[in-house]
Amino acid sequence: MTDSPRLARAWRAQVITLLPQAFPGVLGESLTGRALKDGLWQLDTVDLRRFGEGKHRNVDDTPAGGGAGMVLRADVMGQALDHALQNAPKGAPLIYLSPRGRRFDQAMARQLSQAPGVTLICGRFEGLDERVIEHYGIQEVSLGDFVLTGGEIAAQALIDATVRLIPRVLGNQESTEEESFSDGLLEHPQYTRPATWKGLPIPEILLSGHHGNITDWRRTQAERLTKERRPDLWRAYCAAHGRDPDEDQEL
Ligand code: SAH
Repeated sequence: MTDSPRLARAWRAQVITLLPQAFPGVLGESLTGRALKDGLWQLDTVDLRRFGEGKHRNVDDTPAGGGAGMVLRADVMGQALDHALQNAPKGAPLIYLSPRGRRFDQAMARQLSQAPGVTLICGRFEGLDERVIEHYGIQEVSLGDFVLTGGEIAAQALIDATVRLIPRVLGNQESTEEESFSDGLLEHPQYTRPATWKGLPIPEILLSGHHGNITDWRRTQAERLTKERRPDLWRAYCAAHGRDPDEDQEL
């Protein structure tokens, strides 16, 4: 058993957060949870409060220049980061979950899954003192164009999308190659039993047993959905495949 997961160094996430009790949360369930138990990946939280100032372990203060809300202090976060970085695997990227960041996507998940792990900073309140971001050269990553109250849900989403790409975490590795975003298209519609539900049958072709036709049908459906819903992805897909995005297809 040369490829035993216990011999290979497991992918490792470290999360700096004011809410360590929120982890592993949903990551401890189902496929990601089983993989965590099996040692295919590891999760450590760093409790930011531990590094807080004074008897109340303050981690935040009012924004310089005035304004609403509170900002996480540079000195407190700096200490938490120094602690986390000591334990981080070499080459693990350092990411602050932030609405100002580069938008997270499947390509980034794949890249992160090939790194030895990741160190994540979850913001709270108005966010993080800018000097920490600059000093440590932290990469900012956003889940999308909306504002959450904290980075924990974003961190869990990033970890979930990444961990499922680690070999052996999903039972069926093929399923990550065909699914939405991996081949540049949204996924085709899926059906299962019963064959008829509320008078609605499963498309006949899927029950035909003719694999070639089924593959063609699925591709046509994936192209139709992508063209309808995500013209941005459709144009990129057409460019990559030397096709005219405005071509008249029988979709
Ligand atoms: N004042 C900030 C928002 C702070 S929200 C601004 O306007 O940009 C508090 C924390 O939630 C952030 O520090 C960040 O860690 C997290 N967060 C909020 N929205 C997020 C998003 N879309 N993606 C990732 N993290 C987010």
